Amino acid sequence: MNHKIEVFISSDRISKRILEIANEIDKHYKGSDNLILIGLLRGSYMFMSDLSKLIKTPHEIDFITASSYGAGTVSSGDVKILKDLDGDIKGKDIIIIEDIIDTGNTLSKVKEILSIRNPTSIKICTLLDKPSRREIAVSVDYIGFEIPDEFVVGMGLDLDQKYRHLPFVGKITE
Ligand code: 5GP
Repeated sequence: MNHKIEVFISSDRISKRILEIANEIDKHYKGSDNLILIGLLRGSYMFMSDLSKLIKTPHEIDFITASSYGAGTVSSGDVKILKDLDGDIKGKDIIIIEDIIDTGNTLSKVKEILSIRNPTSIKICTLLDKPSRREIAVSVDYIGFEIPDEFVVGMGLDLDQKYRHLPFVGKITE
């Protein structure tokens, strides 16, 4: 079944905001030679790629996969690491890249796991934030857009693995 999707945040607005975030990151990490972006798969792939191209500070990239919602749209709170990072993060400045923070369960668990490995610093960057849904407090350093409690797709976000490729953030209307 295909859904009707309406543009919620346009591709233009997203590009402008990603450039602003990249500039903030460059300002903060000026001179760092240990920066690494860690994307939470699969949702972060598009945002991470767009952001990485605009960050001028030299950086590495790695990915981690945590268990997702599956076919449903509700977080269980039981988060598991399904695929770990390939590299070591000891002594690195890491930025965890997320597509959206909802309850905060996924991110707080991933942050906890990565903190134990002694990186020099950890920051969190998300394209979208739904603060009204938070169950666990997580401090987020870079936020693209705060959105209300609505289910969105596009820019890496899916509904049953569909719609990730859309270059805008959309709402399902039918
Ligand atoms: P949390 O653990 O913060 O509740 O969930 C974060 C994950 O839930 C996101 O990485 C994303 O996969 C999924 N998620 C949360 N809200 C939405 C939404 O509005 N749309 C989609 N497609 N996924 C969402």
